[in-house]
Amino acid sequence: MKKHNFYAGPSILSEYTINNTIDAIRNFAGMDLSLLEISHRSKQFTAVINEASALVKELLDVPEGYSVLWLGGGASLQFCMVPYNLLINKAAYLETGVWASNAIKEARLFGEVDVVASSRDQNFSYIPDFKIPADVDYFHFTTNNTIYGTELRRDPDSPVPLVADMSSDIFSRPVDVSKYDLIYAGAQKNIAPAGVTLVIVKDSVLGRAPRPIPTMLDYKTHVNKESMFNTPPVLPIFAALQTLRYYKEQGGVKQLELIDMEKAGVLYDAIDNSRMFQGTARADSRSIMNVCFVMAPEYKELEQEFIDFAAARNIVGIKGHRSVGGFRASLYNALPLASVNALVQAMKDFEKAH
Ligand SMILES: *Cc1c(COP(=O)(O)O)cnc(C)c1O
Repeated sequence: MKKHNFYAGPSILSEYTINNTIDAIRNFAGMDLSLLEISHRSKQFTAVINEASALVKELLDVPEGYSVLWLGGGASLQFCMVPYNLLINKAAYLETGVWASNAIKEARLFGEVDVVASSRDQNFSYIPDFKIPADVDYFHFTTNNTIYGTELRRDPDSPVPLVADMSSDIFSRPVDVSKYDLIYAGAQKNIAPAGVTLVIVKDSVLGRAPRPIPTMLDYKTHVNKESMFNTPPVLPIFAALQTLRYYKEQGGVKQLELIDMEKAGVLYDAIDNSRMFQGTARADSRSIMNVCFVMAPEYKELEQEFIDFAAARNIVGIKGHRSVGGFRASLYNALPLASVNALVQAMKDFEKAH
């Protein structure tokens, strides 16, 4: 039986995604060839990337005038491509964790950066209040802070266009894409294996930056060539298509959000009703994708023992990031409620035994 997989990324994928990808590695689209050994320009693969882009537009209700791109380089390359292409004079950033800080560092290479608020003072355990200035080219924020388990689950009202890193919570709620100039997400949390990054960009914002942009780092290159300027990551894009089909069959992002809320509710209830475990994120900032918790000070020395106790029940990936410690349970879309229930039962049994 498959283990209960709580890893933060790369992370659990649906059985549907994994099985169909295995089948395509053996024999892709009835070609009697592997997905790994065919041309990305074959009509069979072009159909894959086109359907994947169309499903992104359908699931997130993407308005006219936006392009869907499948790029290499991870979300981390987007930290650089965003300001390279969109920062003219000044941009505003919200600092809510390591990924946000990395994005800020890159933006400073291209212009003035206004960090409107930061939660660094309390180890990024909350989403700070912020006001978006009107005199900036865009406002960048991280919707879900994977390491700290905090999340901004709404599209803020803003006098300027939004740019968001949605790597770890995309497809976990409806998004008003019209408020954004650009959305990006590394695939390895809620979409596909590592190796591809999904970008949704408003076409009209491109081509304005006052600097030459290397061809591969220019979004226009990839918009004009429909992500086929160079060889795209064929395997992760195929897997992404399977996940997107699976999401559609599940009822789309509204339905996925209900299921995700239920899963997170079960785990947070268990934490809040425990004397042994305590959450680390401020209640109003809690993520429904990554649930971070630690043991109360009097039980602190039992943390490793609990990880081993859970592992004996086939529960893996719950060790917290080194900057927070304790535990982190990632409840991405593909994780079944049964896995959350298994973790909660392990917490209760462990607490009883101590
Ligand atoms: C994982 C993660 C990243 C980094 O993604 P890479 O693809 O490894 O560059 C960036 N932002 C967020 C929110 C993440 O969760």
